Amino acid sequence: MQREGGSLAGSIPTLILKGPGVRPLTKGHLWVYSGAVNRVVGRAKAGQVVRLADGAKKFLAWAWYSPDSRIRARILSRRPEEEFKDGWWAGRLDRARAGRRVLEEDPETEAFRLCNSEADGLPGLTIDIYGRAAVVQAMTPGAEEIKKGVALWLKERMGVEPVLERDDGQSRRLEGLPRSGGLLLGTEPKEPLTILEGGMKFQVDLVEGQKTGWYLDQRVNRGLAAAFAGGKHVLDCFSYSGGFSARALAAGARSSTLVDSSARALRGAKANLELNGLADRASLVQGNVFEILRQYRDAGRRFGLIILDPPKLAPTRAQASKAGRAYKDINLLALKLLEPQGVLATFSCSAGVEPAFFQEIVHWAALDAGVGLQILARLSQPEDHPILLGMPETEYLKGLICRPL
Ligand code: SAH
Repeated sequence: MQREGGSLAGSIPTLILKGPGVRPLTKGHLWVYSGAVNRVVGRAKAGQVVRLADGAKKFLAWAWYSPDSRIRARILSRRPEEEFKDGWWAGRLDRARAGRRVLEEDPETEAFRLCNSEADGLPGLTIDIYGRAAVVQAMTPGAEEIKKGVALWLKERMGVEPVLERDDGQSRRLEGLPRSGGLLLGTEPKEPLTILEGGMKFQVDLVEGQKTGWYLDQRVNRGLAAAFAGGKHVLDCFSYSGGFSARALAAGARSSTLVDSSARALRGAKANLELNGLADRASLVQGNVFEILRQYRDAGRRFGLIILDPPKLAPTRAQASKAGRAYKDINLLALKLLEPQGVLATFSCSAGVEPAFFQEIVHWAALDAGVGLQILARLSQPEDHPILLGMPETEYLKGLICRPL
């Protein structure tokens, strides 16, 4: 059979890139912006696998085509001999799954991310497993093309059903895709599902909950923060449905105060604390963390472990400096609320705030609070949310566990 990689012959359309457009690709990045494309040879459809070539028509890579997006193509492979027959993506899912075998076999944890988009070789496709159910997000035309097949794969290969779809509200629009959601396969669960994480029970609402129902990316960090909770009064800021608090209380915290602006999130927290027999040591506070921290400061309250896990304050690098002020604000307030020997577990999930910048922000907060600060641990994303070297935006979650000196 004629291999098509090296030549421009055959039915696969080709994007000819401009000279400078080729440069990011040599650095391991996977995105080709619209401005880098010189012309398209052949009729390319959204979500189709296309060939990328340089001005001299030399093969560069295979990519998923996205004609309505600023990110015009996303690289799938740099191997010219790779073939993209029907169902080619199943091999990538098999590999992603093999990389999570320890998690899949862990009797204490039933929820994890099976496929993490670019970092698992399928740009725009995320799959979260929740026990026997899964939630798929298809955020590129390429992922959209394969999502029904992926749902079938989940059922046939992993016995997972139902498979739901969630729209993240942003990405699909930027890719020119219509809003989407609902059921890809099976029947919709009638009630929130209960999953195990670290041996504890949590209710997750796959249909209405935030993200795909649970902040899977904080699973490991919840356990790490809980290790500092013994005997402490905990302040769990941006608590969502109580993941950090439940783990901290189970690890021996004396109390936990959960603060979140969402009533629904706190209803979930109440249910989760009750499910684990921990509700008697918890208080739920609905409000704005930025204000509540000030109130607690003015009231002279103190805590032994403070968790700060705010939502994405800077989705892109352009918003990083404004977000920097907000991060500094809450970190400064939290440091003022810490008991001597208290511990702060502080996070940022903004891709636009790089780890070194985040550490600098926390340093500014410490300077303003007039304390020296020890870093006890630097935290990141768990292994089911891998980071792709060459694509800094895949590293989004960072945390510091620190203690005033
Ligand atoms: N710590 C959680 C995840 C936090 S996500 C976990 O481990 O599961 C961020 C949370 O912050 C969301 O639940 C959202 O409702 C809440 N939130 C966003 N802005 C807020 C604000 N200004 N004050 C209080 N909560 C806020």
